[in-house]
Amino acid sequence: MSLNQKATNMIEQLDATIGAESVRTIAATTTLMVQNIKEHMLAPENVKEAPILSQAEIITLANGTISRWQHFVKKHGPDMPPGVKSGGRVLYPLDQARALVKRLRKDVVEAKGGAVVIAVTNFKGGVTKTTTVATLAQGLSLRGLNCLVVDLDPQGSLTSLFGYLPDIDVEEQNTVMHLYYGHEILLDNAVVKTYWDGIDLIAASPELHSAEFVLPSRQRSDPSFRYWDVLNQGLESLKNKYDVILIDTPPSLSYTTANGIMAADALIMPLPPSPLDFASSAQFWGLCNDMMRQFSERSGEEKKFNFIDILLTRVDHNVGVSTQVREWILKSYGAMVLPVEIPKTSTADTAAASFGTVYDLQTNKGIARTLKRAKDSYDMFVNHVDKQIQGVWLSRSKEQ
Ligand code: ADP
Ligand code: MG
Repeated sequence: MSLNQKATNMIEQLDATIGAESVRTIAATTTLMVQNIKEHMLAPENVKEAPILSQAEIITLANGTISRWQHFVKKHGPDMPPGVKSGGRVLYPLDQARALVKRLRKDVVEAKGGAVVIAVTNFKGGVTKTTTVATLAQGLSLRGLNCLVVDLDPQGSLTSLFGYLPDIDVEEQNTVMHLYYGHEILLDNAVVKTYWDGIDLIAASPELHSAEFVLPSRQRSDPSFRYWDVLNQGLESLKNKYDVILIDTPPSLSYTTANGIMAADALIMPLPPSPLDFASSAQFWGLCNDMMRQFSERSGEEKKFNFIDILLTRVDHNVGVSTQVREWILKSYGAMVLPVEIPKTSTADTAAASFGTVYDLQTNKGIARTLKRAKDSYDMFVNHVDKQIQGVWLSRSKEQ
């Protein structure tokens, strides 16, 4: 009898022997394993590297033309960044490329009122919130904008994507917990640089779970404490240092998520076209509405967003049901649904396997076509949000 048959034929007695001690062992073993894997992925010889860009990529990012580039080079020749010579052409490291894009772009309006704060939210896990924040930050920074990303999820996936290990590298003062405990009122000292020029990070660590006890307990001891407004206040001076602040939220409507939403000028909800994800998105808006009404009544100020985007994501064109659910989504959310879809793609997983995104992957023959398809849709998404950010600044300058 094979082992398999034995397993199916025999009913073995299962005594209740798995207690806290066993769970502790499981926790210790798996934590160690995760640490080893991450350390290997992010080890010094394996440090994450920012991309190097060609002249053609810089022109595309600046939405320019060859002749504009030639004119620019003629005019600014002596003070052009030097780049690095590679096989007869010049390539530009990220910081130089970003500086060039910034100078070449003609469609950037004055960043009136400082950073546009965007929270990426959805109740569910695995709907690509973190991937959306990371790729959006990378894409916007490539277009010359200075980004701050804020990781509010105790799991710290965004923190890992930007090269820090939540359990090892992150001190409490580098997270929003310092603010939640009331040790600081501003988050300026929490910010760390990342491997990607133009993206700074406020990290997350498992300590962030405490937010769910700390914030309500502060409110109990001081009824005037605006527990939903702590992050918003904490970001105040950072808004003058960045063009965009992107907030990644945990998959729950927690105190932490409430702070993320209330600090935001705009929301982006990544939504895979599956019936369960669609139903859960409806629940999100119901609870979000209750929460906003409750805070408005207490503060006397009505919360308003500049835009809300629904981003269809992980769209699998081979699955019939997604076509039907896409219809429901379009009917329910109307113009909020972005005119771009992120396809379900194995390149996203390939990138995630090395703690990165499609913008981190170097093109190689094996994945060139799928990578281009994934990058093209992210590029369209980023361009769209870039326009919305310019739109927010424009509306702020008209208000005064
Ligand atoms: P969330 O933050 O909502 O939990 P993540 O961004 O962590 O979601 O994504 C969940 C998983 O889906 C990750 O393993 C990620 O690599 C994968 N993923 C992200 N984008 C795509 C995509 N376009 N196609 C397929 N898988 C994706
Ligand atoms: Mg996440």
